[in-house]
Amino acid sequence: MSTQSRVPAGVTTGGQFSTSARGEADVHLEAADDDRVCVRCGEEAGYLSSDDRCDGCLEQVDAERTRLTTLTPPEADTELVQILNSAVSARREVDYALGEVHRAVGDRQTWERKGPVWGLSHADAEAKARELADSDLDPDDENYYRAAAARKAVPRYDAATLALALLDEQNALHEAEFARRGGWTRAFLATSTGGHVHASMGCSTCNRGESPTEFQLMTDYSGTGEDTIVADAGYRACTVCFPSAPVGDATSLPTKMLSTDEVAKAAARTEREAKKAKAAEDRIAKGLTADGSPLRVEWTETNAPGWDPVPGGRPGERTHTYRDRPAHEEFKTERAATQWYVETLAWGYGRAEDKAPALEAVAQAIAVKRGVDVETVKAELAKKVEAKKKRG
Ligand SMILES: [Zn+2]
Ligand SMILES: [Zn+2]
Repeated sequence: MSTQSRVPAGVTTGGQFSTSARGEADVHLEAADDDRVCVRCGEEAGYLSSDDRCDGCLEQVDAERTRLTTLTPPEADTELVQILNSAVSARREVDYALGEVHRAVGDRQTWERKGPVWGLSHADAEAKARELADSDLDPDDENYYRAAAARKAVPRYDAATLALALLDEQNALHEAEFARRGGWTRAFLATSTGGHVHASMGCSTCNRGESPTEFQLMTDYSGTGEDTIVADAGYRACTVCFPSAPVGDATSLPTKMLSTDEVAKAAARTEREAKKAKAAEDRIAKGLTADGSPLRVEWTETNAPGWDPVPGGRPGERTHTYRDRPAHEEFKTERAATQWYVETLAWGYGRAEDKAPALEAVAQAIAVKRGVDVETVKAELAKKVEAKKKRG
């Protein structure tokens, strides 16, 4: 890698840059060296730019640069957010692959106060691993297995670094386009509870805790201007970032800016409440009470048999006796209550008289629900009782 200078827009051939940076002899040497590999795509190329890129890659970068000029700020920032998220995973993969490189050469980590530290520097481990990977050792060589591990670790590390470099490149292209247009307004929502909306991630009111403030770039608001951001951020607008923002609270200045998390939580809450409301509605529609709770009816069963504790007996000792006993029934639905009413009167086995207050309560509840006279309900039910008696 000779220089890090950027290739100006519009330049698609790398040839002139490499020859201007190096003499003929140099190019000749490199050709013999078999080292003409593009740092961006890893392919061998006849010509490379001064920053070791092939023509194809330069054209791709150029096309991408042109494409970015056609995007709206929300479109560009939506892509940027994806790039930055991907870069987080890519960086993690680079770290992991680098660990594999260290392990391949037999390096170990020790725990220092600031965390785990490798014995070798990254550069030394990488150089050693590359050397091992290129070696042709006999199976009885002490480094035979390390060489095999290096042949796995090195390509993984190279692939990971390349992937990260491409994301960094995309990020840089976005930054360049942002700068080319003189920037645009952005709204960064601090995603901690009650977070404010800031104009940048560098706001002085942020990053005061132990861990850095996390932000969500509200891409819909990219380029909309401060007025729109302040209006829609409501009480969340940071008054340091947006001096025009009025001071208020969630009630006086409601916000339209919610984090993805808040949107998901709100949707889940709405769904839960709708389900609950629907269930309550169903219960009320089918039931016999105003609130949908079961209808409880009570009566006394005269001279009813049962097992009672023996006065002065052993604990748990019971005796079979006849006496008046309280009884009750609960109905979740009008249908169940009606069925019980009809069956009680049709095949009451002498208990129908005891149940009279409960039967009355059922008829009353049906009358209230339907908004009709209780006698009308009883007449209707009486017909059903007769029909039941005939059917048996
Ligand atoms: Zn290339
Ligand atoms: Zn701020």
